[in-house]
Amino acid sequence: YNIPELRRLDVEHHLPAQANYAELQRIGGSRIITRAEGSTIYDGEGNAILDGMAGLWCVNVGYGREELVRAAAEQMQELPFYNTFFKTATPPTVMLAAKLAEKLGGKLQHVFFNASGSEANDTVMRLVRYYWSLKGEPKRTVFISRRNAYHGSTMAGASLGGMAHMHPIGGLPIPGIEHVAQPYKFNEGFNEDEEAFGARVAQEIEDRIIKVGPENVAAFIGEVVQGAGGVIIPPKGYWKRVEAICEKYGILLVVDEVITGFGRLGEWFGFQHFGVTPDLVPMAKGLSSGYLPISAVGVSSDIVKVLRDGNGEFAHGYTYSGHPVAAAVALKNIEIIEREGLVERVKNDAGPYFAEALKRLEGDPLVGEVRSLGLIGAVEIVAKKGTNERFTGKEGKAGPIVRDTCIKNGLMVRGIRDSVVMCPPLIITHAEIDRMIDIIGRSLREAEPALRALKAD
Ligand code: PMP
Repeated sequence: YNIPELRRLDVEHHLPAQANYAELQRIGGSRIITRAEGSTIYDGEGNAILDGMAGLWCVNVGYGREELVRAAAEQMQELPFYNTFFKTATPPTVMLAAKLAEKLGGKLQHVFFNASGSEANDTVMRLVRYYWSLKGEPKRTVFISRRNAYHGSTMAGASLGGMAHMHPIGGLPIPGIEHVAQPYKFNEGFNEDEEAFGARVAQEIEDRIIKVGPENVAAFIGEVVQGAGGVIIPPKGYWKRVEAICEKYGILLVVDEVITGFGRLGEWFGFQHFGVTPDLVPMAKGLSSGYLPISAVGVSSDIVKVLRDGNGEFAHGYTYSGHPVAAAVALKNIEIIEREGLVERVKNDAGPYFAEALKRLEGDPLVGEVRSLGLIGAVEIVAKKGTNERFTGKEGKAGPIVRDTCIKNGLMVRGIRDSVVMCPPLIITHAEIDRMIDIIGRSLREAEPALRALKAD
């Protein structure tokens, strides 16, 4: 931001008047989002924009939820903060842990709180390595992850992730991370049978384990549906194979539910849809619908038993682990999801409606594929219909161009490489889903000349 110019607007001591938001937007070069209601956000120029991205894959219950505001205010008055460090806790933190254990089910009966998804994945990394040390297998330090995965922005998170553009700088990835193929059939297995493709990419995981030496591998980490990786819905049988491979070599399975948790895929957690049982489950975003920062890691009883039988202490924690105000909001958020049946709504109503509506884009000459699961979906843009050829070679730039056109037309989406990605609030209405699809269709047509002008890198 240009500070002298901002001073002129007198934003140092109070927010600028409504009339100044447009000016602030111009100076800062960032769209200023001023307010929101339901599934609609409003920007500094007064534009109403349908939020096809739920903030940043966060705002599952939608905007303007008075109940969440009240839950925060009441908890702030009662007890604004206390730590969970030295054998202390607060009522909402304990109640939230119990609630999460209920939703996670099975052996996932313990919870470690953090403030962000990145912190949750850092916690996973330390906890897993600590676990293996206590088990007498300290060599088990290697994590296997997938290319184009996103697991956060800390040193550990960015390393666990497989985003090539995050790696060349600062010595990343840190040692001990192995990246294998993402199960991205449209890109990597276009002409392959789905089952065969799933088996091939899963086999790559086993091959890598053998190469690294199973005695050195600590865990496999992945999202059941990769979000920031481009909404990658795995081929049939993939996750069952991954789980079997982890079991075969005694490797822990970590399913990152930061995006897929809390109803996004039509189950409380995405692993439940795919019928696998992880050992650790990092979660964030939809946990509080983004109203306050909070994250958690669901941990299996087997792991906790090893910790307890060890020296009984995991020397790890953040000041804001289990923040009572954020926990109170998360509890209320879960109550809303339960009361309004939003998980069932995604599974039986909004998800299928979204999938049907997306099919209307299949005939567009620029669309190579549409795919969705629950309320997350993507449209693949191709240079030549019927192929997976891109306008700029393999890692293209078509997505951001169409995204910008969509925003201009009143829809917030993401453009990830050559796809347009959607992740709307779980309360999105049928009419809004129709509008989302109409705007994408219209934007594809409008953006076509710019796409055709793209050159291969
Ligand atoms: N894991 C996944 C799957 C994510 O999508 C994200 C954030 N987009 C993170 C972890 C990191 O979460 P945060 O930004 O809260 O640190």
